[in-house]
Amino acid sequence: MIAVADIEAAAANLETAGAREVLRWGIESFGSRLAIATSFQAEGMVIVDIAAELAPEVRVFTLDTGRLPAETYQMMEEVHRRYGIRVETVFPDSAEVESMTSRHGANLFYESVANRALCCRVRKVRPLERKLGTLDAWASGLRRGQQQSRGRARKVEIDAGHGSIVKLNPLADWPAQQVEDYIRERQVPRHPLYAAGYTSIGCQPCTRPTRPGEDPRAGRWWWEQQAAKECGIHFSPEGNVERQADVLLEELLD
Ligand code: SF4
Repeated sequence: MIAVADIEAAAANLETAGAREVLRWGIESFGSRLAIATSFQAEGMVIVDIAAELAPEVRVFTLDTGRLPAETYQMMEEVHRRYGIRVETVFPDSAEVESMTSRHGANLFYESVANRALCCRVRKVRPLERKLGTLDAWASGLRRGQQQSRGRARKVEIDAGHGSIVKLNPLADWPAQQVEDYIRERQVPRHPLYAAGYTSIGCQPCTRPTRPGEDPRAGRWWWEQQAAKECGIHFSPEGNVERQADVLLEELLD
């Protein structure tokens, strides 16, 4: 286990480093106690591509919510074909899903923002917490430019929300064009739904293609005009919706 002071020193040094250097430090420091989280969108695939070159045995995991589009499973297979990496799939707790859908229906997320937050917690947030509880470090393709709530992300940080393990954001300072350029130059596999007009890809019932000029995340939970469009993995909005979701979750876990 690395001392907090050493992590903080590395975080300061690596803030101006390139993505490859950040990932190299993570892989050398944590070995198999580090894993990359990806939903196979462009940024996540860039991270996988860089890491696989540095360490072919690098661990990669994804959250299988049970509501993913078929094309996302194709991407899991593509990662195996291209990099030889078997993606670790993390599922929600089946009893929690059964309880949730029995009480609120399979498509509860369309009913209210609190129901949607509940579904994201049961299918994404809680499985992620369980997975991260087995790791000392994780990496994702988060970029500061993606959303206001991600604007202060550092390349190496202590993830206080997940047991104070280390979080790597190697692409934190990459603009979207740099991601596109990297994918083209390296011929990194692309999620097929980009070609169908999607600009952000998540669960099948909660994602639609976007129109030219729309915000890239406009297709996520598109029926929610006012709510913060985050699933709670990178950012947990305070407020009424979260409290309502807390109550609904407590009811499920009773
Ligand atoms: Fe549920 Fe939709 Fe969230 Fe997926 S994105 S976990 S289906 S609410």
